[in-house]
Amino acid sequence: MARRCVFCGNAGLTREHVIPRWLTDVLPEQARFRGQDQMAVLLHPDHAVDGPHHREMPETFNSSTVKTVCGSCNNGFMNDIETVTRPYLSTMIRGRLAMPLSVEAVTAVATWAVKTSLMAQLTGSEPASIDRVYQDFYATRRPTDACLVWAAAIDDEDWALRAECRLMLYVLDGPPANGDDPPNLLTVAIGLGGLLLYTIIDPVLGPSTWNPTAVFRGALVPLWPDPRPVTWPPSRVLRPAEAWGVCEYMPMLLG
Ligand SMILES: [Zn+2]
Repeated sequence: MARRCVFCGNAGLTREHVIPRWLTDVLPEQARFRGQDQMAVLLHPDHAVDGPHHREMPETFNSSTVKTVCGSCNNGFMNDIETVTRPYLSTMIRGRLAMPLSVEAVTAVATWAVKTSLMAQLTGSEPASIDRVYQDFYATRRPTDACLVWAAAIDDEDWALRAECRLMLYVLDGPPANGDDPPNLLTVAIGLGGLLLYTIIDPVLGPSTWNPTAVFRGALVPLWPDPRPVTWPPSRVLRPAEAWGVCEYMPMLLG
């Protein structure tokens, strides 16, 4: 059977860059060839079912592509998200000017972060099985109620172009998960120039489980849910070691 678009279910898939080309032009020159990394951690309330599967991706984040979306989604609503978000993202990536971000801007950036996280996780060999999140995102064009998004300012070469996915299988009750079961929740940290976007997609335990704002106080600004106006950049720059801590935030709490 032909594969179907992860968003609308139509046939006729096209190959798409996870990071659009316009964005590469915004990045500082030396940041354009950085890597990406995916780690799968299988978890159970009582014990870790399996050790983490670490997978370093051979291609750089801005060259990675996926063939999971149809032409009308790609050229339609996904492209609309790029167009709306581009001016805000460009300024945040360059990270110099202080600027107010309206609710509209915050919503646009959060929506972009979720769209890009949903694409980034599909570059891995075993993506999370979260069909409903894709369908709801397509229906509303907004982060779904399984999604949480934060932003931080960062100044570190390692993070100037980077995607770190942590995919987890969490079983609430019943028999321990089989190692072959696909992950069911994930986090994606995306570094772009002076900006770090952190997205949690959790249709299992629910967003109220997570509060990294408290852990990385002053540096991690909540964007979604409940978007509010913010002044960019935030009062404190996220340290590089903290950025790695953000990646491990959910696996650590679950493990
Ligand atoms: Zn589609």
